[in-house]
Amino acid sequence: MKVLITGGGGFLGSHLADGFLARGDEVYVLDIGSDQKNRHNLKNPKFHYVQNSVFDIEMLENLVRRCDLIYHLAAVVGVEHYVADPYHVLNVNVNGTQNVLRAAHRYDKKIVLASTSEVYGRNENVPFDEHDDRVLGSTAIDRWCYSTSKAVGEHFAFAYGRLGLPVVIVRYFNIYGPRLDALDVGRVISIFAGQLLSGKPITVVGDGQQTRCFTYITDAVKATMAAGLIDEAVGGIFNIGTDRETTILELAELFQGLRATGSRIEFVPQESIYGNSYEDVPRRVPKVNRMHEILGVKATTSLEDGMSKTLDWFELIRPAKVVEAGAEIGG
Ligand code: UDP
Repeated sequence: MKVLITGGGGFLGSHLADGFLARGDEVYVLDIGSDQKNRHNLKNPKFHYVQNSVFDIEMLENLVRRCDLIYHLAAVVGVEHYVADPYHVLNVNVNGTQNVLRAAHRYDKKIVLASTSEVYGRNENVPFDEHDDRVLGSTAIDRWCYSTSKAVGEHFAFAYGRLGLPVVIVRYFNIYGPRLDALDVGRVISIFAGQLLSGKPITVVGDGQQTRCFTYITDAVKATMAAGLIDEAVGGIFNIGTDRETTILELAELFQGLRATGSRIEFVPQESIYGNSYEDVPRRVPKVNRMHEILGVKATTSLEDGMSKTLDWFELIRPAKVVEAGAEIGG
């Protein structure tokens, strides 16, 4: 089978490419970014990296036509973007997604659309069933543009579904693992990892009682592959994650226990990190029965195991420490 992964240059997409290559499939990645996260696959004749955008319609259609299954992961993700460049978020996540859906419809190719737990917004009724309400703040708060953009993508997918396109929606819950982000930036795990490895304070926002369900990448990839491969999944929405709920303070403490670098925990106000255009989500927990029963996948990696593997990877990619000349002498 030939699989197209838009956004396959990123964290999730590069692992998904590994998953399909391991099954013996041929993988085409379309991504505007670098091929760094796929560098281990670049010599594989079954792997193709196309550095281009979903706004290049001719090239997009070419790729869609030659593949059997499409995964649309290309999106602008990350809190810093929601706040700094909402236009970019909305344009790529809404118009780019429409381009991919249109091409998939034109060539009648099944498509799995990557969505997010952010679509539930600040709904307080956890755990979230796939059909639960979306509770969002004002459109004047830029933070909600990402959630909205992904929900519009889902609506588009269902609209194309009505026109006969086989679509599947997967909503990810805080997926983490090796290749996540650069140290110190992006999501809480890469920020905490950077702080821990350099012995700096671990910055817990607010009182740290907000929760997330951190899901290890290999579990997420198994479920994502099943979403594209199992016929019964077509037309459905699937929460992808674990239902083990962890407070951010617990996460910080778990990190502290992984390496004795002297990092202490520092509580910081939300505004100091995100400015005023941001609202944190207090709890985020999925119902995972559909993932278990229809996709046949359970997230089995423990937080301790997953975090330990992730930190090992961060340590590996960390720029080597500069040893001052003479530092070793006389000891
Ligand atoms: N967070 C934190 N310290 C940081 C960065 C993030 O305590 O230095 C918190 C943040 O406020 C949120 C949680 O970690 O409650 C998860 O943030 P992330 O940006 O990873 O993703 P989200 O789940 O909010 O999309």
